[in-house]
Amino acid sequence: MEGQRAGTWPVVGHQWAIDLLHPLAQPGSSGPRHAYLFLGPPQIGKSTLARAFGKALLCTNDGPRPCGYCRSCDLMAKMGHPDFWLIQPTDKDGAIDRANGLLRADAAASIVRDAMLRPVEGQYKFVLIQDTHRANDTFANKLLKTLEEAPDHVVLCLTAHDRAELLPTIVSRCQLFELRPQSTQLIASALMDRGVADRQEAELLARLSNGRLGWAIDQAEGKKNQEQRQEDLRSLWQLARASRVERLSFSQSLAGKRENERLFGLLALWTGWWRDVLLAQAGCLNVCNNIDHQDQIEQDAQRFAQADVQAFLRTLSRIEGYLHHTVNTALALDVLLLQLPRPVANR
Ligand SMILES: [Zn+2]
Repeated sequence: MEGQRAGTWPVVGHQWAIDLLHPLAQPGSSGPRHAYLFLGPPQIGKSTLARAFGKALLCTNDGPRPCGYCRSCDLMAKMGHPDFWLIQPTDKDGAIDRANGLLRADAAASIVRDAMLRPVEGQYKFVLIQDTHRANDTFANKLLKTLEEAPDHVVLCLTAHDRAELLPTIVSRCQLFELRPQSTQLIASALMDRGVADRQEAELLARLSNGRLGWAIDQAEGKKNQEQRQEDLRSLWQLARASRVERLSFSQSLAGKRENERLFGLLALWTGWWRDVLLAQAGCLNVCNNIDHQDQIEQDAQRFAQADVQAFLRTLSRIEGYLHHTVNTALALDVLLLQLPRPVANR
């Protein structure tokens, strides 16, 4: 990373985790364990932290690591270090697909095979496996074998959303790092430091991010994402006033698209909106997240019954849980859309 001070990690926040990992990578230390598991919601910084750990471990500087200028740090910055290995879920044709793909048998076989080889450049072979919750059974079993039998030079870093989605035998062989949401203030200033958002926009995105810097950066960098948010909010406001037939037709078109990432993004946006409405009903408009639509939040707080909003938030969270375990998507969305609150005056 350009301009990085020796020994500083290219990571915003998560300082407690850095404090634990940093000493393991320094010259003369006892070295890392075999396996680490970084847990937390999407885009909270699991892979960023794991990559930085890899960078520090592979750094060849005699002083503080990562130094940011040695050959190894340079190769890491260019994503071309031969001892750093990234494994991601793929579709059936082998294309990376983190939302719907799987970690498959062939990837596991190559880990088992290559783990036995000595590192090319330095002391370790560093394997980052993203989205371990998307492992198929063969992958999970081979991974377990690697965790049990890997030679000393292999360091495995796994990321996953939730430990409940992994085999307990995998979890128990790793040191766990459960990453927590970062503060709004930290995220807003990180966005401004990167020059991707002005103060007002940074403040809004930080609030909407639920503590996930990666999400906030993606939003700030992609104008399209923000247009999509405005469009999704408008469609939500219309749906709350729409007939049963219109709601079901929306639900069917959403289920028909089979785009998990888009679907969960939309449910998160709905949850954020109705939580804001509930907060306004409780007289706490000042802590709402959708700060660019305060007027609309206030109006909805008047128009909808608090009990309906509460019930809908519970349904949202239940249906989201079902959808993660692939029940009938169309049916689950029908139920959700029919329970979307209606303005009190329209009933
Ligand atoms: Zn270095």
